[in-house]
Amino acid sequence: SEKLNALKANTHNTVNSTLDDLALNLAAKVDSKITNGETIGLLEGIPFGIKDVYMLQGTTTTASSDLLKNYKSAYTATAIQKLLDAGAIPVVKENCDSFGHGSSSENTIFGAVKNAINPELVGGGSSGGSAVNVAKDYTVFSIGGDTGGSVRQPAGYNHVYGLKPTYGRISRYGLMAYASSTDCVGPIAKSVEDIRIILNVMSGKDVKDQTTYASAEINADSISDTSEIKSVGYFKNFIESDAIDPKIKADFLSTIEKIKAKGIEVKELDFFQSDILVSTYYTLAMAETASNLSRLDGSNYGNRIEDKNLKESYAVTRSENFSEETKRRIVGGNQVLSQGFSDEIYLKSLALRDAISENFEEDFKDVDIILSPVTPSTPPEIGNSLKDPHAMYLSDAYTVGFSLGQLPTLTVPQGTETGLQITAAKTNDELVLKFANFLK
Ligand code: GLN
Repeated sequence: SEKLNALKANTHNTVNSTLDDLALNLAAKVDSKITNGETIGLLEGIPFGIKDVYMLQGTTTTASSDLLKNYKSAYTATAIQKLLDAGAIPVVKENCDSFGHGSSSENTIFGAVKNAINPELVGGGSSGGSAVNVAKDYTVFSIGGDTGGSVRQPAGYNHVYGLKPTYGRISRYGLMAYASSTDCVGPIAKSVEDIRIILNVMSGKDVKDQTTYASAEINADSISDTSEIKSVGYFKNFIESDAIDPKIKADFLSTIEKIKAKGIEVKELDFFQSDILVSTYYTLAMAETASNLSRLDGSNYGNRIEDKNLKESYAVTRSENFSEETKRRIVGGNQVLSQGFSDEIYLKSLALRDAISENFEEDFKDVDIILSPVTPSTPPEIGNSLKDPHAMYLSDAYTVGFSLGQLPTLTVPQGTETGLQITAAKTNDELVLKFANFLK
C-alpha cells in the first residue's frame, strides 16, 4: 500500500484510487498461493502499469483529459484481460498525452512527465508515463499504445525497450481509439526476453477486433538462433538529413559498423522524405481522430457541461474539456475530410500510404531488417513542444512511416540520446526480437 502511494505521488501516473484495491486483492491471492507452496506462473504477481487509455473495468480511464477525468471503464480491454488472466498485477494507470495526441507527454491534465534520465527534459510521448515507470523500476513492464511512435519514442528517450507489433497482432478492443488504422498495443520493458513473454500473452485473434490475426507463439530458443540474419538496410535520407543530431548520427553509424564487422551485409535504401511521411501520417491521424472523438460530446461519456440547448451543450462540453492540441487535430481532421479538401488532401494521403507500404514490400525483398534511429533529435526541454506543435510533429519523422506500413518495430537502447529502431516485414515480429538478440 505504501509503495502504491509513492507510485502515485509523481506525474508519471494518473490519479486512480480504485486500482489500489484491485492491485492489493490480486497481490494477496498470489501471496497466499506462495504461502501454500503452490507453483506460480511466470507473470503471476508481476506489477505492471497501463497507459491511461485502456479500459480496466471498475477503474477510471481518463485519457489524461478533462473530458474523461471521472469516466469509469465499463469493461476490460482484451490485451489487459489476458495479462490479468496470466496473474500480472496492474498497479497504476499512466500519464500520457491526452488521447495519444503528442510526442512529449505534456498535453495532459496531470502535469508534464519528466524524463527518467534528465528531469529537465520531457519523458517523450505519448506513452511517456509508461516508459518512465519502467526506466525507474516502478513497474516491471508497462502497456503503452503506439499510433505513430508513442511506444518507441518514449522508450528511446528513457533507454528502455518498446515494441510496436505488427498491426492486428494484439487486439485493440478496449484501447481508446485515436487513429484506428495504425493504433497498436505495445509493451515497454527492460529486456528483449520480457518483451517476448508479454507479447506472447497479449497476441491472438479476437472476435471483438476484426483486424486481428492468429499468430504463432515466439519461443526463446528460436530468437536466440540469429543465423538466418544476412542483410540489413537503412534509409540514406534519414541519416544524411540536416535535421539529425550529430551524436545520434554518430551512434547510429557506429552500430552499422559493428553489424558489418559481424559479417552482415548492409545496404543503403531510398525512402520518402520526412515532410512527406509526417504530413501523410498527420493527415490520416487527424482525420481518424476527428471521427473517433466525435462521440465525446457529453451525452454518453464524460464530463458534460450543460448550456442553453443541446447543440450549445455539445459545443461547450467539447471546447471546455478538450486540450488545445486535441482541438487542433479535430479541426484539422474535419477540414481534410470536408468537401473541397478531401480529394486534394485526404485521398492523396491514402494513396501515399499505399506507396509507402509498397516501398517497404520492395525493401524487404532485398533486406531482412531495416534499422533507423527512433528520432532525429534528442528529448526537448519541458515546455518547448507545446510552444511549437509543427516542430513536434516533425520530430516523429522516423517512426510514423513504419506505423503507416503496419510493420513490427522495436526500440532498443543505443548510445545515450535516443534508441535504435529495428523493423521487419509485416507479421515477422519474431525476426525483430531475433535481431535485438543478435545486437547484444
Ligand atoms: N506523436 C504522434 C502523434 O501525436 C504519435 C502518437 C501516438 O503514437 N499515439 O500522433
